Amino acid sequence: TATARIDQLLGSLGYGSRGDIARMAKSGWITLDDARIWDATTRIAVTPDLPARMVVSREPLDPLAGMVILLHKPLGMTCSHKEDGPLVYDILPDRWKRRQPVISTVGRLDKQTSGLLLLTDDGPLLHRIISPKQHIKKTYRATLARPLEGNEAAIFAAGDLVLQGEDKPLAPAELRVISPTEAVLTVTEGRYHQVRRMFAATGNHVTALHRDALGGLVLPDDLMPGQWRIIDGAQIATIF
Ligand code: URA
Repeated sequence: TATARIDQLLGSLGYGSRGDIARMAKSGWITLDDARIWDATTRIAVTPDLPARMVVSREPLDPLAGMVILLHKPLGMTCSHKEDGPLVYDILPDRWKRRQPVISTVGRLDKQTSGLLLLTDDGPLLHRIISPKQHIKKTYRATLARPLEGNEAAIFAAGDLVLQGEDKPLAPAELRVISPTEAVLTVTEGRYHQVRRMFAATGNHVTALHRDALGGLVLPDDLMPGQWRIIDGAQIATIF
């Protein structure tokens, strides 16, 4: 197993500079298996059980690198590191903005889309989920300005719909009608504003959009907008 100096490990998790962490250790704020570690240059084995064994400032150590966060994205927040205005990253603990590797959203939802959003610091996993080759199903519930015509499911299923300004047709998508102005659409691609533009191509307009699922991973009913949790390997596996 890999080892790391405590100041390097906590530094990469965003707890502060080497000096900050040296001071925390000297003040007795860092414990491993209930024993204080006074010297932040101490090397320890970095094992998956470390967050259960290490306490920093009275809190369990943050999740180690390689975590996946399931967030119920609220309306009005942007999936970007750069723009100003409320960002989905602002929902997470502040020090997570200083983590290395950086935590990023797995794809993006529009500012005015709510629902299931993953964030991770695992680059290869991120690319495996968003790669068009994987054909991961993304399920959206759309509310429409006008009643459905009845031909939309056939149009989306045909696999020959070309969005405005593009030339490559969309892959087939599945539409399940819930009511005259509500439908669940499952797509396997992630083009820019894809769902809104698909309904626009049928002469309709999406007034509300919510993502329910990514592959077999469904947004839990008890996760309210703005709430998040860390998911484990078994839950991650349900995406594929
Ligand atoms: N399609 C959209 O139009 N917007 C989203 O946020 C996701 C899919």
